[in-house]
Amino acid sequence: MTAGPELPPYRPPSEAGSVLVRVTRGCAWNRCTFCGMYKEQRFSVRKLDEIRADLALLRAETPHARSVFLADSDALVHPRLPDVVAAVRATFPEAERITSYARLHTLVHRPFARLEAARAAGLTRIHAGLESGAPAVLAAVHKGATPELAREAGRRAIEAGFTLSLYLLSGLGGETDWEAHARDSGRLLGEIAPHFIRLRTLVLLAGTPLHAAWKEGRFSPATPEIRIRETELLLRTLLATVPQREIELTSDHFSNYVYADGELVYGGINGYLPEEGETLLATLSAARAAVASARQVYDPASLARRGHLTGLYAPRL
Ligand code: SF4
Repeated sequence: MTAGPELPPYRPPSEAGSVLVRVTRGCAWNRCTFCGMYKEQRFSVRKLDEIRADLALLRAETPHARSVFLADSDALVHPRLPDVVAAVRATFPEAERITSYARLHTLVHRPFARLEAARAAGLTRIHAGLESGAPAVLAAVHKGATPELAREAGRRAIEAGFTLSLYLLSGLGGETDWEAHARDSGRLLGEIAPHFIRLRTLVLLAGTPLHAAWKEGRFSPATPEIRIRETELLLRTLLATVPQREIELTSDHFSNYVYADGELVYGGINGYLPEEGETLLATLSAARAAVASARQVYDPASLARRGHLTGLYAPRL
């Protein structure tokens, strides 16, 4: 039996239909206190020949590729990234996009010419975890980034010609710092003006330092109601900064859902800013009212904490 290509354990939800090409393994940083994605995986860079062999296998099983995602957590650290991207592009010339995760730190500290070379070779979209725009929250979760670094990373990614997709982690400020988390994140996202903002909600995963902090009473998770208020404040602040370009805001993860008395009352917000901002605010306001009048409210994050949901971040979610 022939061995198949090496597959990555994770990819962004929006890359569900993409061909997955593993170019590195794990995360070279691996210190964010909320993240359990690569705790068991030692970081390594895959050789170009290994990647080429996988590409041949992937081509054989994919007659038509609409998009390709380079894994794992930060393909930009690969020392031969332009060659890797060129090999991917040559294998899948029909692909409309080639995308990758990247750390903000890497976007700032790699020479700009290297980013341009990767873009010229065919890498089109960067998915990066901003998580928060609040300095204290970023420091508390050991993100290894500041708002200043994030601003510079965003500027470089967009100037190099990438479509920039930033992730924000709702609830990361917990019950005490949600206002700073919302306000600072809204302001920073408005300044960076990425092409996409993707919301997902903090789920405390057993084995992570943040889960331990919650168990020891050092972190109080935001309730679903606080999280909706946080998202309203984030959106209002973002709209007030008048972003320079249209931004697509999406909640493309089920961790954002909120249920009240057994009904789904909040499935996230999805729309284009600034045009649809008021409509999205109305959705949030309706969700907040439904939560306020409900007898029982829960979301995937609170269910996970009570042990009713496991495997929330199962491989390839
Ligand atoms: S959130 Fe990203 S950068 Fe942080 S440890 Fe996880 S994979 Fe690495």
